Amino acid sequence: MDFSLIIPCYNEEGNIEAFFDEAEKVLDLAPISYEYVFVNDGSTDSTQQRLKELYEKHPNKSITVINFSRNFGKESAIFAGLKNSTGKAVCLIDADLQQHPKTAYQMYRTLVANPELDCVCAYQSKRNEGKLISGIKSLYYKITNSMVETEFKNGASDFRVFTSKVKDAILSLGEYHRFSKGIFSWVGFNTEYVEYEADERNDGATKWSFGRLVKYGIGGIMAFSTAPLKLSAYIGGTATIFSVVYFIVTLIRKFTHNINVDGFTQLVILLTFFGGLILTTLGIIGSYIAKIYEQSKHRPVYIAKEILTRNEDVGNGN
Ligand code: UDP
Ligand code: MG
Repeated sequence: MDFSLIIPCYNEEGNIEAFFDEAEKVLDLAPISYEYVFVNDGSTDSTQQRLKELYEKHPNKSITVINFSRNFGKESAIFAGLKNSTGKAVCLIDADLQQHPKTAYQMYRTLVANPELDCVCAYQSKRNEGKLISGIKSLYYKITNSMVETEFKNGASDFRVFTSKVKDAILSLGEYHRFSKGIFSWVGFNTEYVEYEADERNDGATKWSFGRLVKYGIGGIMAFSTAPLKLSAYIGGTATIFSVVYFIVTLIRKFTHNINVDGFTQLVILLTFFGGLILTTLGIIGSYIAKIYEQSKHRPVYIAKEILTRNEDVGNGN
């Protein structure tokens, strides 16, 4: 199999057939073998019936339908699709035709034509969204990127075509809370960004409310950064230093100006000193928890792209 299309579907009853028709227009003429892996992410409409109809109507097409027992989210749908795909190249594409199968095939061609590439990612430079939302998004990326070890690229979508090597690397990250943007940058590999403009949704409405986006964004930080766990150490450290400085200044003033140190000043010094100590200790505990957290994800220690050796016993080590 040359090419796998992975299509997560959540309440996309009006798009399944249209998507398949559009994809066929492009791929049926292409000189490659290809497959569809549809993942029905617990839709509450007739998406599953539409998928079943499609599956039965085209017995000579390679179609796989995975039907989730409930809505697990797009990240889980992508994971299931990747796990059940067999292509040498894999494409993640939405069902709503905002991302066109024609573009997917172009991206596939780019990938195949450039052996040094491992991944081709569609990149949206212009987006049909308000100034406020796009401002919040770019602020989010600025803050997040200062906290994570690998960069999250603003505008880069899940709409990607990549080799099975990249797929295996992604699947080797077995963590439960999955955040694709982070995972893609974490596994590395040579990625080319190509610009595209998202079309209007073919049918139905977006599943991303503002609240869901915020939750998703916080999840991304939590999955790829342990900085929040250590935050209290910084605040606590600052408070402790402040109280020590304040204490010294008060002492000096007492001896040079012979002022009376009132109870309030003493309280402020003691409170900030012990408050700061407690926060610092919490931050230290947080640093250990961060280590445990990272370890519990069982991520591979490294990902090798290729190994040159004449020794047959040397494996990939992943
Ligand atoms: N999707 C999914 N599970 C979800 C939410 C969305 O599988 O819980 C799918 C959805 O069916 C679509 C893709 O993810 O194929 C992108 O969703 P959507 O079009 O709502 O996002 P947008 O394009 O607005 O960012
Ligand atoms: Mg969409």
